[in-house]
Amino acid sequence: MRVPKRGCPTVAPVAILLALMATLAAAPPAVPAAPQRAVARPSLIVVIVVDMLPSGKLETLKPLLSGGLRRLLDAGRIHPACAHAHAATLTAPGHATLLSGLLPRHHGVIMNEWYDITAHREVSSVEERRDAPADAAGHDRYRNLIGESLADLMKRSQKASKVYSVAGKNRSAILTAGHAPDGAFWYDEKTGEFTGAPGVRARLSGWKPAAGIIPDAWSYPLRPEALPDDYPYETPPRVAPHSLRAEEGASGGKAARSRGRRIAESPWLDWLTLELASKILDDEALGRDAAPDLLVVALSAADHVGHGKGPDSQEYLDTIIRVDGWLGDFMKRAAAAAAPSGGVVFALSADHGVVPLPET
Ligand SMILES: [Zn+2]
Repeated sequence: MRVPKRGCPTVAPVAILLALMATLAAAPPAVPAAPQRAVARPSLIVVIVVDMLPSGKLETLKPLLSGGLRRLLDAGRIHPACAHAHAATLTAPGHATLLSGLLPRHHGVIMNEWYDITAHREVSSVEERRDAPADAAGHDRYRNLIGESLADLMKRSQKASKVYSVAGKNRSAILTAGHAPDGAFWYDEKTGEFTGAPGVRARLSGWKPAAGIIPDAWSYPLRPEALPDDYPYETPPRVAPHSLRAEEGASGGKAARSRGRRIAESPWLDWLTLELASKILDDEALGRDAAPDLLVVALSAADHVGHGKGPDSQEYLDTIIRVDGWLGDFMKRAAAAAAPSGGVVFALSADHGVVPLPET
């Protein structure tokens, strides 16, 4: 097997799994509460995946958090001993395992990319079948996803159940949504917009996130909980502000680094993902009838930031803090939407952790 060209490092298994099992009111309690009682029959399940979140990181950062992550820490049921059991703790197998509960040899996604000895070439975890039906959102479209997941079980047990996923990466959206989702959407760094399989792509047409939210540069307060901003071994630029504008090419032609790519390497990738998740929540009326729906929200910014700057950097810390706030707003919306019909269950996990940068 060849070493993949690109991917997350193989690290110690992730041990973060939180579930907020409660009929949540729209507003969180002012005082942290004990774990709330389970919802008897939720009308909405929201699975949140933070891409690259080392075990124990949230507990360490807890005093700095006040949004959705904090709410899960305070009121959720925490399973610190959970761990991925597969060897290659990468994005693709991690996401596929989280929704299926299967090992890679059973769900079929062993790495992000690998050498297929029958095809005699390298294949992608989300490679499309050549004979995939043109209008399918996911059914039999991706040849390497073979196992069944929670998404498939929900669709099979109740026809009215809806399944959606939205993610910063294509593999994170595709591999969590099962074989026949109603929609799986992901961010395209080239265009700076979301896309999806051909059968559902058109449903994004005309959608634009709120303007004026994403700045032209990323700045953050320097916090003593993280390493110095100019820490060696970070990929440049090492210090704030980080431009989020397109970088001009050497000859003034094609951008050397598009704005879409730069946003993907910033916390605002997750803001965009949560904006689209909110739209799906509203447009598809998720959680508003007796048939339970599934919405997977895969937040990829921490992975992009962590790869370049490390998990103890100012940038990574700022990303988690911002995402915590945006996630809190989204969770309130989801809880309010689902409350009359049964309530919502939130589950949070990482697909993998990460090793720290070397010491100086
Ligand atoms: Zn990942």
